[in-house]
Amino acid sequence: MKIAVLSRGPKLYSTRRLVEAGEQRGHEMRVVNPLRCYMNISSHRPEIHYKGAELEPFDAVIPRIGASVTFYGTAVLRQFEMMGVYPLNESVAITRARDKLRSLQLLSRKGLGLPITGFAHHADDIDDMIGLVGGAPLVIKLLEGTQGRGVVLTETKQAAESVIDAFNGLRANILIQEFIKEAGGSDLRCFVIGDKVVAAMKRTAKEGEFRSNLHRGGSAEIIKLTPEERSTAVRSARVMGLNVAGVDILRSNHGPVVLEVNSSPGLEGIETATGKDVAGMTIAFIEKNARRGRTGTKGKG
Ligand code: ADP
Repeated sequence: MKIAVLSRGPKLYSTRRLVEAGEQRGHEMRVVNPLRCYMNISSHRPEIHYKGAELEPFDAVIPRIGASVTFYGTAVLRQFEMMGVYPLNESVAITRARDKLRSLQLLSRKGLGLPITGFAHHADDIDDMIGLVGGAPLVIKLLEGTQGRGVVLTETKQAAESVIDAFNGLRANILIQEFIKEAGGSDLRCFVIGDKVVAAMKRTAKEGEFRSNLHRGGSAEIIKLTPEERSTAVRSARVMGLNVAGVDILRSNHGPVVLEVNSSPGLEGIETATGKDVAGMTIAFIEKNARRGRTGTKGKG
């Protein structure tokens, strides 16, 4: 097969591994920078041009679209879809997953466990809002944050009020969330492909930190999930309509709660921690499922 990896970084670990795994399995792989693609929308024959020439036809496309280029990146992916190229994750599903609030609403509608979460536009009713999510300690999150940036733990109501007030002053959209203390600074990253968790790791925050992101100095180890955790991860990916997803789960007193469903989960942390060939399994999924024109909107919302 001819497979495009839609990525801005040919040297990034995940991109390199996908190319390597594809080539090992006999496919022709090409890294395509979504920001260098341009396209015609109106024609009967949709095309993508790349660096001055028409892009050759592909059988499948693996989107690795960074959060900062979601808008243009998903537009390019949509064009591939219009041309009948099979996307590993569909553009609609990626757009859905990138909206944290919408994701939580969709997950809750399907009965998945979540930390109690609040969202408000106006700062006037902070008091009631804090009560709504159960009072301090609270986690306050910038809606646009990634890799733990803009995620703040406030131990007291006063601290929560100050932080909410400050974010509001900056006109930032925030989520206010129950702090899952019993998670003990750890979360579970479940790597889902199709209807299976193919690899899972437990990430633990460094001393004195509650955020377990590896970018923030957290450490990772392989972990065996409970059946409930497995089914929570698989169902979460399905609700979002993602074939491949990194589902982040906290172990709470009331069972697994979903923090986030990532549509472009990185491979480095999970392959290193588990020793599994996640890139190879990703390519195997494409081999099994890719058909020309096989794009229909998965999931709902
Ligand atoms: P990002 O998407 O920026 O990584 P997250 O919402 O995943 O932000 O939060 C970063 C980390 O902070 C999580 O991996 C987890 O360890 C910790 N964390 C986030 N929300 C909570 C919460 N409600 N209770 C306890 N820990 C949390």
